[in-house]
Amino acid sequence: MPPDLTRTRVGIVGGGPAGLMLSHLLARAGIDSVVVELRTREEVEHTHRAGILEQDSVRLLDETGVSDRVLRDGYRHEGIDLAFGGAGHRIDFEALVGASVQLYPQTDVFIDLADARDRDGGDVRYDVNEVGVVDVTSDQPGVLFTDSAGERQEVRCDYLVGADGSRSICRDSFPESQRRQFFREYPFAWFGILCEAPPSAPELIYNHSERGFALISQRTETLQRMYFQCDPHEDVDDWSDDRIWEELQTRVGANGYTLQEGPITSRTVLPFRSFVQEPMRHGNLLLAGDAAHTVPPTGAKGLNLALADVRVLAEELERAISKKDGSLLDSYTERALDRVWKAQHFSYWMTTMLHRPAEASPFDLRRQVGELSSVVSSTAGSTYLAEAYTGWPDRD
Ligand SMILES: Cc1cc2nc3c(=O)[nH]c(=O)nc-3n(C[C@H](O)[C@H](O)[C@H](O)COP(=O)(O)OP(=O)(O)OC[C@H]3O[C@@H](n4cnc5c(N)ncnc54)[C@H](O)[C@@H]3O)c2cc1C
Repeated sequence: MPPDLTRTRVGIVGGGPAGLMLSHLLARAGIDSVVVELRTREEVEHTHRAGILEQDSVRLLDETGVSDRVLRDGYRHEGIDLAFGGAGHRIDFEALVGASVQLYPQTDVFIDLADARDRDGGDVRYDVNEVGVVDVTSDQPGVLFTDSAGERQEVRCDYLVGADGSRSICRDSFPESQRRQFFREYPFAWFGILCEAPPSAPELIYNHSERGFALISQRTETLQRMYFQCDPHEDVDDWSDDRIWEELQTRVGANGYTLQEGPITSRTVLPFRSFVQEPMRHGNLLLAGDAAHTVPPTGAKGLNLALADVRVLAEELERAISKKDGSLLDSYTERALDRVWKAQHFSYWMTTMLHRPAEASPFDLRRQVGELSSVVSSTAGSTYLAEAYTGWPDRD
């Protein structure tokens, strides 16, 4: 049996934040799309990841009519604490750059986007498998898959977008001769927990200590997210609640903080790396979000970059489709990469400044404290951090 055929303007592989936001923005411009997603909606809804939205990400959700829940249910943070050398030091975003960020979990971003696509009659196929992309350099590229009922399906489109995350199959369809990949591996990971407790602090604490980094983050009045630096091969089963709390309390206690404890409901080890693939276009296939680049989570940039990519890509697709000129998409890679490399630098800088290096010497740890001290004691240093953390404006 030949597969059932659907024709659309834009085929989108991956229904995470990048894929769903792109589909939403295209629909607003009158451009139809089909999104195919490997997981069920429930699975994506329950995958805990990012939590900090830059102000332009907040505006994108609110002003394009996805939902204003981000403003109602999210928490505005006007700064962070950098904790090192025995004390906390606040970086005041509002005072330094007149900007803030919003604490709003990625699970809620996804729920808002999925609801908006449902509300507006978007075509999103969840729970598909055996996904493959074909003919990406032709004028009718396609995506083939088996749908949730077990039927083979084919979507043909003018443009195909790979928004399929860090294990992208779309990225792999770029011939090796047509792509460059840039990597940086790190010798550590994050041990992440969710716990039922009141917040330990009103804003995020980025905590340097001789035992390694810890990040104290929040979710709601009763649920908190915290992380500590660990070995990438750490086994979560080796860590009881008591052992986790002792490790976290020791690290933040070195800088004068005490955490509110409670039952730990989830624990995961998150290895991370820096990665970029250039260019982000091959023929009529374009990449967006984690499919094209990943960053360590220390700078809270991954989700924001994914949303920034598709903001630019939606504009460029709209122009190329309305003018019937695919060459107008050539500027996408350059516009997107300008922000991506700034975010790569910022995420790398925050990571290396705050994490205990492998086989750290006393010199290495003292030098990090010197670096942190230079940042908090200098208006120029603090302003750079505040500007990067709250997000750079679009470059046209
Ligand atoms: C465990 C974890 C914790 C993180 N924590 C943070 C954080 O604290 N702060 C931060 O800023 N960032 C964080 N990130 C990064 C952030 O979550 C990502 O940058 C963001 O999700 C990128 O969005 P995306 O839409 O590009 O990719 P994704 O969210 O990964 O979405 C891609 C979607 O494509 C689907 N898919 C994959 N392959 C296929 C296929 N072949 N066919 C169809 N669908 C496919 C996947 O199921 C997925 O739903 C974290 C990431 C992980 C993995």
